[in-house]
Amino acid sequence: MWNEIAKQISQAIGQPFTVETRRSVSGGCINQGYAIADGQRTYFVKVNTASQVEMFAAEALGLKQMYETQSIRVPQPLTWGVAGNSSYIVMEWLEFGRGDHTSWEKMGQNLAAMHRYQRATKFGWDCNNTIGSTPQVNDWTENWADFFTEHRIGFQLRLAKRRGGGFPDLGTVLDAVRDRLGDWQPQPSLVHGDLWSGNAACTVQGEPVILDPATYWGDREVDLAMTELFGGFPAPFYRGYNQAWPLDAGYQERKNLYNIYHILNHFNLFGGGYGSQANRMLQKIL
Ligand code: ADP
Repeated sequence: MWNEIAKQISQAIGQPFTVETRRSVSGGCINQGYAIADGQRTYFVKVNTASQVEMFAAEALGLKQMYETQSIRVPQPLTWGVAGNSSYIVMEWLEFGRGDHTSWEKMGQNLAAMHRYQRATKFGWDCNNTIGSTPQVNDWTENWADFFTEHRIGFQLRLAKRRGGGFPDLGTVLDAVRDRLGDWQPQPSLVHGDLWSGNAACTVQGEPVILDPATYWGDREVDLAMTELFGGFPAPFYRGYNQAWPLDAGYQERKNLYNIYHILNHFNLFGGGYGSQANRMLQKIL
């Protein structure tokens, strides 16, 4: 497998590359991560079973599109594919350090700049991708309430109901979600889609980076809402974001609604207490 990956890297960079050293990188939830190097260059590689190749294809496309916005640093993808029984993605290696408050303020400003990148007239994306390892449906949809209700809450709640968990009636929930969003019709922004603190970091030079996206064109508020889950981001991040592009007053009300998606997904991925958390959040909107 490593020879094949080295060959693909050589092709991508137009120079010879061989894997001289390889070490495991921990921290991923879904894939096996590695640092590979030839003594001069280092790359970050994520590996999974061959059947997961579409997940890496979508990750590469998401990183490429985010990179092209020239707004916030993301690891630049090099190549991806199948080698033997495995699938893989190779990207630029980044050395992470501890960001200070300036880095986090910049993270907020740069994310706002990415959200200002509005090139789509509908909500959705070029292909489906994954959120964690759960499929994420991105069928192009004109109306934001329809998109979020059906392809975000509807999709996850159907999965969750199959796992049990005593969730309320699907139709009742979907009506309530649609109702809450009403005629809220933001401009589609390029969003990261899975922006919890594990997917945001700073380089040793203090440059903010976002990684491991579940990209699509959606309401920018979905990214902000998710940053408040699972530990939250440091205060300077919000200061930076709001200075660059203040949030709409209705954000506070939509935040809970948007985060139901991620808590349902966590129930679908990990089970346990996420089911009752999702239920509590759903009760609030019914
Ligand atoms: P997974 O898809 O399995 O969740 P991640 O993309 O979140 O994996 O990466 C796992 C960990 O690997 C990250 O938390 C980070 O520490 C490290 N990492 C991710 N991307 C890079 C990179 N481009 N360069 C160096 N380390 C990285």
